[in-house]
Amino acid sequence: MAFHDTHFHLDLFKNPEETVKKIESAGVYTIAVTNSPSVFFYTKKITEGCKYVKAAIGLHPELAYERKHEVDQLIELLGETRYIGEVGLDNSNKLPVNYETQKVIFKRILQACSDKKNKILTIHSRNAAKDVIDMIGSRFWGKIILHWYSGSIKELERALDYGFYFSINYSMTKSSNGRKIINALPQNRILIETDGPFIEYKKAPATPLMSEIIANEICKIKLESNIKITPEDIQTNFKDLLS
Ligand SMILES: [Zn+2]
Repeated sequence: MAFHDTHFHLDLFKNPEETVKKIESAGVYTIAVTNSPSVFFYTKKITEGCKYVKAAIGLHPELAYERKHEVDQLIELLGETRYIGEVGLDNSNKLPVNYETQKVIFKRILQACSDKKNKILTIHSRNAAKDVIDMIGSRFWGKIILHWYSGSIKELERALDYGFYFSINYSMTKSSNGRKIINALPQNRILIETDGPFIEYKKAPATPLMSEIIANEICKIKLESNIKITPEDIQTNFKDLLS
């Protein structure tokens, strides 16, 4: 079965071009996120003409303060791709000036994406779930995926009310907080991500080729609460995301 990975750092692999070939032959729909507009050019070039791998343009919140001038370039390039990421907020051990700058940048990116109306965003929200959800709000034009969500269940429920999706990775299926989040999600809002190479599977960086393993783990967790879902159900969510 064709599968998907909505958050994968292709450019951080040892041999990205070889990795693209493997994903294309396995047929896994992959959103290759980037951490800055300059990286986007590279990822776009090596995925040109690909059926399965799509380059996303991003400005990672942990780089946003140092690279704040790159936000203009990101906004100028929005017409080049439907996919945006990695963007968002990170408030773990950040100076107030850093976090406030992240917010200014994220706000500009959100506004520009909402104006375009059809973007798909993959969003980082470590220690910042409430602020991220507040800033996106309920009237955003486009699709929102909260990547590796680790906030409260209360905020998760608000994000569900706003129509957001959640992408789940292998680490989340193995942690108690991750399992709590998986259990709180309705089946129609669950997507798969690997976040490779930041996550490893069997001592190797995770790649989209393992996305079905993650889907199977999610189905097992749901079954423990007597909820029967299949990897095919999760794949249907990806089709809805693109529609
Ligand atoms: Zn990431």
